[in-house]
Amino acid sequence: MPLCVYLCYTAGCETKLERWMPTADQGAEARIECPRCGQVMTCAWTGSQIATPNLKDISSPVFHKK
Ligand SMILES: [Zn+2]
Repeated sequence: MPLCVYLCYTAGCETKLERWMPTADQGAEARIECPRCGQVMTCAWTGSQIATPNLKDISSPVFHKK
């Protein structure tokens, strides 16, 4: 589950919101209203760059320490 970050670009508001989404695509498509000013927030980060570890895949990076 990717942690998506939403930013409000309204001047003087600039609220940042983090929300866990089922998939990165859903996070990117979600229209989340700013809790302070009500404007639809911009999705700044969907967490898609960090793949959810597949614990059944032995080659998954989660099993290999850097
Ligand atoms: Zn706002």
